[in-house]
Amino acid sequence: MVILHHTAMQDCAAAVARLCAPEFEVSAHYVIAENGEIIQLVDEAMRAWHAGAGAWGAITDLNSHSIGIELANPGPLAGFPPFPAPQMAALEDLLTGLMTRHNIPAQNIIAHSDMAPTRKFDPGAKFDWRRLALGGLSVWPNTISAPDSDFTADAQRFGYCLPESGAKGEAQVLAAFRLRFRPGAIGPTDATDRAMIHDLATRFPVDRAASRP
Ligand SMILES: [Zn+2]
Repeated sequence: MVILHHTAMQDCAAAVARLCAPEFEVSAHYVIAENGEIIQLVDEAMRAWHAGAGAWGAITDLNSHSIGIELANPGPLAGFPPFPAPQMAALEDLLTGLMTRHNIPAQNIIAHSDMAPTRKFDPGAKFDWRRLALGGLSVWPNTISAPDSDFTADAQRFGYCLPESGAKGEAQVLAAFRLRFRPGAIGPTDATDRAMIHDLATRFPVDRAASRP
């Protein structure tokens, strides 16, 4: 898998320094600067500490199953600025190579917020997932009406895991889904949410047996 992050630090140099400082116990395979420069910090064959607690499908140790890419972006420190074009182009080049080298399908390129809905909100609402999907580097739903579908069941079929049981967990997954696929949507689950996740779950069901590193 590949997990996308934003650094939420003032600049790229500060983020690289943090990711290389042992006392912080965080790392990532790659950092991409706003100008498109790609900085590799960890060999792709090695485990980096970028994902933390969370789950996707059957995988509960995401650090052992994923490449982590940090996009330099101050996020909440600067009002969530957009991701510049050179940075997006560099990300697309990097993802194309990673997917080829490691045989990673497009649906396995996910957000940190997807696998840790209660803790993490990156890369955030400004990140252009549709653009990646148009290039075959992630997935995007078709909105086909699915009036009788169950949002939470479909979200789990796609890969989301409920952080806790019941209505609270369902709301946490809905928020993570909307952050990536419907930024700005509010209120209870509606027909558009159900249609979008039903399409994703139908076309890209997660492999619930794929938990081996
Ligand atoms: Zn993150």
